[in-house]
Amino acid sequence: MATKYKRVLYKLSGEALAGGKGFGIDSEVVTKITSQIVEVVKQGVEVAIVVGGGNIWRGKTGEELGMERATADSMGMLATVMNSLALQDALEQKGVDTRVLTSVEMKEMAEPYIRRRAIRHLEKGRVAIFAAGIGNPYFSTDTTAALRAKEIGAEAILMGKNGVDGVYSADPKLDSTATKYDKLSYMDIMNKGLTIMDSTAITFCMDNHLPIIVFSIDDAENIVKVVSDSNLGTTIE
Ligand code: UDP
Repeated sequence: MATKYKRVLYKLSGEALAGGKGFGIDSEVVTKITSQIVEVVKQGVEVAIVVGGGNIWRGKTGEELGMERATADSMGMLATVMNSLALQDALEQKGVDTRVLTSVEMKEMAEPYIRRRAIRHLEKGRVAIFAAGIGNPYFSTDTTAALRAKEIGAEAILMGKNGVDGVYSADPKLDSTATKYDKLSYMDIMNKGLTIMDSTAITFCMDNHLPIIVFSIDDAENIVKVVSDSNLGTTIE
């Protein structure tokens, strides 16, 4: 079956890996998520992944505790490396070749990020997992996803969320009148103050014409549906 996309960047929040526990890495959740990534790879779609680190550490939390922000952000970037290695392990156990590429060199564990090399991995059918954010403090893994997606020529960012199946007018868990949007523009996100992605990331996507599809990963099969032309979730473009 022909897919809608040939190359995608899948952005997962760190929280998604924590599952119901809210902290750390839930191996059952990792198994569920990676099984579906395997299905997408089997369909011939080239997949790159950026995973956050919020299930382990966020720079902002450290700052609130009195730490220097840049140091706290370095810890956040390291958290993304742990999550990336967990995804790598689970994918390879399912027989899919992967490479973790880090923005901060740690060559004993993973390759340094080199754009052309990342593209080559994708062309060979390997899943490329981009870890350690963009390597700079004060940025997020949303911005990392946007930047790397553009660099590797991904056609869209697939944004997997847990607990919500798209972008809503308000938090549907707190406001029963909240309505789901099928389509939004980048400007809508900023004007309506929707917090689906930070503003640095959203303006990057707008300036570089990069569509974002926000969907729920509670049904693990959704990623397969998203790459094969279903109108799931919310499309931002
Ligand atoms: N981070 C950073 N620079 C980057 C990407 C991430 O400093 O380019 C740090 C930052 O402290 C952030 C943490 O890594 O809080 C985890 O990333 P993020 O909060 O984006 O993860 P998510 O919310 O998606 O789990």
